Amino acid sequence: DALSNKIAAGEVVERPASIVKELVENALDAGSTSILVELTEAGLTSIRVVDNGSGIPADDVETAFLRHATSKIQTDRDLFNIHTLGFRGEALPSIASVSYLTMKTSTGTGAGVELQLEGGKLVKRAASPTRKGTELIITNLFYNTPARLKYLKTSHTEAGHTSDVMNRLAMSNPSVAFEYIHNEKQVLKTSGNGDIRQVIAQIYGRSVATKLVSFEESSLDYQVKGFLCRPEVNRSSRQYLSVYINGRYIRNYAIAGAIMQGYHTLLPIGRFPIAVIQIEMNPTLIDVNVHPSKMEVRLSKEQELGVLISSSIKKAFQQTRL
Ligand code: ADP
Ligand code: MG
Repeated sequence: DALSNKIAAGEVVERPASIVKELVENALDAGSTSILVELTEAGLTSIRVVDNGSGIPADDVETAFLRHATSKIQTDRDLFNIHTLGFRGEALPSIASVSYLTMKTSTGTGAGVELQLEGGKLVKRAASPTRKGTELIITNLFYNTPARLKYLKTSHTEAGHTSDVMNRLAMSNPSVAFEYIHNEKQVLKTSGNGDIRQVIAQIYGRSVATKLVSFEESSLDYQVKGFLCRPEVNRSSRQYLSVYINGRYIRNYAIAGAIMQGYHTLLPIGRFPIAVIQIEMNPTLIDVNVHPSKMEVRLSKEQELGVLISSSIKKAFQQTRL
């Protein structure tokens, strides 16, 4: 119902950046190879996401806006074996409940569908062109939750959060061509040619990304790929550690600690490296269903992973003369 959607919105759609994250994750789950994100005034005026993914069949479009309606898992068991970025079926109903939302979607066969919702209420349904994929336009964000609107920071800060989100998504999906435009200015554009080094260079600059040290190691339960920037280009914030498990950006204290231990003597105290760590593991060993943002995870065998990461980093730097 309308109230529980608004309550869920409090957790899932904290700010424009969280909306962008959810919409791009949906586009990725739909198999898109090209994703355009366009914001005006940090998303407070409008957020537009266009993908070339599967689209939603005409008969299922309304269902996508029902709470806990997800096409991605079917049974309880699936909840502990997640292969997609989404699974909670909360994002669309939550976002719709605090904005005006237009969705145009088509599977590429037959006419597509356009839906318009205001505060989660359907106000228009019409046929739309057949170009395969999905387009979402969100305006009047938080118009009916004034406290949330007030809590948002300056346009500059909010745009920065969205930039961070786009950077993380681009780094974990080098085979997808991303374009991010803010106030008609292009902020990020990736080629989608699959080369993560190019994406890292685009985000952090060529000079930071030169001489990227990389490794690929595995243990019984984990495979880890790392792309490490030279220790001299260290930063004063942890935010430059990007850790992914099965393609999902996550935050985990133990993993961050293991990365720091890997760099250990190479870094002055209080400095953090720029590093991208991609972990692949059996989805049944990870619990993603900890928080609505899906960014916190619980891991079995955390220690095995920590040792693998720190020793791989040490080895990678020992083998490379910087
Ligand atoms: P979840 O991603 O957790 O399943 P969402 O509320 O984000 O839940 O989306 C609801 C459903 O709408 C998805 O399960 C999917 O079937 C459909 N959907 C949403 N966005 C897209 C998209 N860009 N392309 C194709 N299908 C989509
Ligand atoms: Mg989703």
